Amino acid sequence: MNRRTLLKNSGNMSLLWGLNGLTLLESIFMSRVQAATGWDIHSLIRQLGPEDALILIPTHELYSRFNQEFNLRTAKLPAVRILVKNPQAIVTSLQWLKQENIPFSIRCGGHSFEGLSQSHSVVIDTRLMNRVDVDLDQHTVNVGGGASLGQIYNAISPLGFAYPGGTCPNVGVSGHLLGGGYGLLARSFGLACDSLLSAEIVTADGRIEVVSEDRNPDLFWALKGGGGGSFGVVTRFTLKIYPLPKVSIFSMSWNLPKNKAATIFNNWQAWIAEAPSEITSLFRFNKNPDGTFYLRTVGQCIKSETWLQTELRNLQMASPQRQSTKTLSFTDAASNFAGKQDYVSVYMKGKSDYIYNEISEIGINVALAGIDQGSAGAVGLAFDGYGGKIAQVSETESAFVHRNAHSVLQYFCQWQNPAASQSRMAHVRAVHKSLRPYVSGFSYVNYCDTDISNWAHAYWGQNLERLIDVKTKWDPENFFKHAQSIPVRG
Ligand SMILES: Cc1cc2nc3c(=O)[nH]c(=O)nc-3n(C[C@H](O)[C@H](O)[C@H](O)COP(=O)(O)OP(=O)(O)OC[C@H]3O[C@@H](n4cnc5c(N)ncnc54)[C@H](O)[C@@H]3O)c2cc1C
Repeated sequence: MNRRTLLKNSGNMSLLWGLNGLTLLESIFMSRVQAATGWDIHSLIRQLGPEDALILIPTHELYSRFNQEFNLRTAKLPAVRILVKNPQAIVTSLQWLKQENIPFSIRCGGHSFEGLSQSHSVVIDTRLMNRVDVDLDQHTVNVGGGASLGQIYNAISPLGFAYPGGTCPNVGVSGHLLGGGYGLLARSFGLACDSLLSAEIVTADGRIEVVSEDRNPDLFWALKGGGGGSFGVVTRFTLKIYPLPKVSIFSMSWNLPKNKAATIFNNWQAWIAEAPSEITSLFRFNKNPDGTFYLRTVGQCIKSETWLQTELRNLQMASPQRQSTKTLSFTDAASNFAGKQDYVSVYMKGKSDYIYNEISEIGINVALAGIDQGSAGAVGLAFDGYGGKIAQVSETESAFVHRNAHSVLQYFCQWQNPAASQSRMAHVRAVHKSLRPYVSGFSYVNYCDTDISNWAHAYWGQNLERLIDVKTKWDPENFFKHAQSIPVRG
């Protein structure tokens, strides 16, 4: 395209040339998106400088780099991605979205199981607000609403501190903490949301509010487990961190025929129910290519490796085929559990069930028979052990209600070829269905699942009505919404 054709095609976009760092060509492409969508993108560009936001449309050279999502099954390509850099840019963007009546989603780490941070239209993306500032005197950290868990851990672990979040480094702090957030320090220090001291949030009426025990306590309560994307865009968290230069970790595994697997698991579930709160542990099942089952339990402990080894004698009665203990820094332990730090995308479907009392041996055998119906590795089960500090907070003290659970059972199913989607989804749904008689009917919002018909009750139980009150007060027009956001009353 020569300069004359460029200018002819550009219309009034030449007025935008230079704004928000736009080249002439980019401003022409912006004009085209404006023409195609009918949205007044010019008005947004005029209000946001490059220091406020990076605005990406499909022709931008950085567009595909920022599209990466964990779950390819639910990935969407937005017409406009607004990578906000400060709270005021979010206020401006939200005002524009409201004026133009454009649906949008909010994105942090992009790990929602059901793509609830995805949109075909506009995404408010917080990833560039990822600063992490540690206060060594106060034992706190200030974290931007777009940081990943790995960014937090990399900042605090070399200083000898830990934070009780999940082990996957690419999970975003916002989605994770707002849904509760379980990690391998949870029985020692509580869920990720239990260490929240205050947050800054842009609300539906365009205010930038600070919430804490003392300021806006109703919203503070709701942010601790009420799920992401319902109350506003969180721009900053102040979190308590814990002096912990080293952790000790363990792993035990078995390859066994199906009929021997339930006994091993029963030993673990009895042990974790009574285990000291210094240890957090989970248990996984997978089918091997030779038809046997791979069973593995891992865990993390805030006491010494020697102390851990003594405590583990109770589990060793089940004669593991492989076992190890190690002493590591907190970040090395997280990498040990989660593997590489690269952002991985796969096709996946996840589901969950809370177990309140231990699951019966019949229930486990039903689950294993269900997994056995499919190919090796197709559907896996993981039980995250609860108790300890998680249970020391009452069910109503924060929005996270499942305080007295024994464990949460996660069904995970991942695949690479989209042609396998239908059969994989059918398989994981069948295993989940077969377990209805043996589980509580409650689910974990961070393992969100759009198959659940009564999802709001399943996620929040007795706290749902109070969450609806908070939502109705702060966002009466239901501006912040997705397939499983908190509804407004009436
Ligand atoms: C590989 C993997 C490992 C995981 N491991 C664990 C684990 O160990 N423990 C555990 O508890 N969970 C785990 N999860 C689940 C994870 O906690 C949730 O998927 C969580 O919601 C992801 O947050 P995110 O910011 O990465 O996701 P996103 O998809 O970006 O967001 C999730 C939700 O939060 C909303 N949201 C995002 N940013 C903001 C914001 N700034 N303000 C308000 N709302 C916002 C979104 O709109 C969406 O509704 C894992 C998930 C995956 C895929």
